[in-house]
Amino acid sequence: MAKKTFQTVRGTRDLLPKDNKYFDFIFDQYVSEAKNAGFSKIETPMFEDTNLFVRGVGRETDIVEKEMYTFKDKSGNSITLRPEGTAPIVRAYLEDGMQAWPQPVSLYYSSPMFRYDRPQAGRYREFYQFGVEVIGSMSPLIDVSLISMSWRVLEKIGLKDITLQVNSIGCPSCRPKYRRMLSAYITDNAKKLCKNCLKRSKTNPLRVLDCKEKVCRLLMEDAPILINNLCTECHNHFKEVLEWLDDLEIPYELNTKLVRGLDYYTKTVFEIWTKSQGAQNSLGGGGRYDELVETMGGKATPAIGFAMGIDRIVELMKEQEIQLPEERLAEVYVVQLGDEAKKKGFKLLNELQKSGIRTQGGLDKDGISEQLKIASNLGAVYSVIIGQKEAMSGTAIIKEMSSGNQEVVAIEKVVKELIKRLKD
Ligand code: AMP
Repeated sequence: MAKKTFQTVRGTRDLLPKDNKYFDFIFDQYVSEAKNAGFSKIETPMFEDTNLFVRGVGRETDIVEKEMYTFKDKSGNSITLRPEGTAPIVRAYLEDGMQAWPQPVSLYYSSPMFRYDRPQAGRYREFYQFGVEVIGSMSPLIDVSLISMSWRVLEKIGLKDITLQVNSIGCPSCRPKYRRMLSAYITDNAKKLCKNCLKRSKTNPLRVLDCKEKVCRLLMEDAPILINNLCTECHNHFKEVLEWLDDLEIPYELNTKLVRGLDYYTKTVFEIWTKSQGAQNSLGGGGRYDELVETMGGKATPAIGFAMGIDRIVELMKEQEIQLPEERLAEVYVVQLGDEAKKKGFKLLNELQKSGIRTQGGLDKDGISEQLKIASNLGAVYSVIIGQKEAMSGTAIIKEMSSGNQEVVAIEKVVKELIKRLKD
């Protein structure tokens, strides 16, 4: 009887080298943008006290209501696998005394997140986000910088048919009034709502605004508009954000129905959408959360962040056949023939790797032509050949792969010679 093999848990998957090439590429782009803008890396634990997310993300959100991976540990504590990065970072900001650092504190992360959602293309139970948080500034310029960073990486990668959606959802001094207006409108039209919205219209009426059901979309066309009801402070803040986006020629769409799924947002919110069919349509998003630090027990501190869904960006890159920059898997390949040559070759391979040269070798292979073929498939610039003759005489042949030119060099000079040639 065949032995039972194991499979990944539903909604999770292995990222194989062919996938990681894309993941690393996108993470690298974002990390380099973030570092250029003065951000430093933060890593929070993969699991936290469940209450952190209930309080931070909001009880009435999809994440907390339906999507958390929550379990009791052996001491009976309720633990949740991290579904998003912001609440843990605000916890760290308070716990690790970051209020005393020069403000604002600018942090980035590249981390897996966990949500118990129904798996489908572009939606996984374990997925990866790159995100940033800037805590301690109210300036609209920070909003613009973050929107610009999230957008320009995707633009630079060459993604087509993506749009930047921007809105303001006000603050505790203007949103309650708007919420009442919207609730009244929804109550008057309750019969026309989808089942889900009928339920959430009582607890979170703003979510009806971005419902994807056709009935709700039609109904919301005539609903009161949030940005027409902002307080002066929110109005001026948003005006400045939009003016700067115009100035920097960042192409955005003002989307008065964009609200985002999490409770903590205030003022500016934004998302990047793909028009592509099939995939989930949001590649990432973010916004201000000026109340969250206080909600989590700190003193009132404005903040803003975004999170990009790397899995979806990778899928879109593949769908749009965007090529990765060519990567040389090896600059040098060590070819050997015979036992003595193998020993010398292995030593040389180690020395080359130690000197920072990307090197591989055919240490478990015996045929020269087979090894040279591998060297050329890997894109090696040079191969170093040690046959029996070379092993005896303490030499090696340096072969330039593109021209085929060969030169015999004393083995102890190979590293120096290759460093020199690769630098030229
Ligand atoms: P959110 O914080 O929910 O707006 O998520 C930010 C981004 O993470 C989304 O725009 C998606 O690109 C990505 N994302 C969220 N949930 C999932 C999921 N279940 N699977 C894959 N990507 C996701």
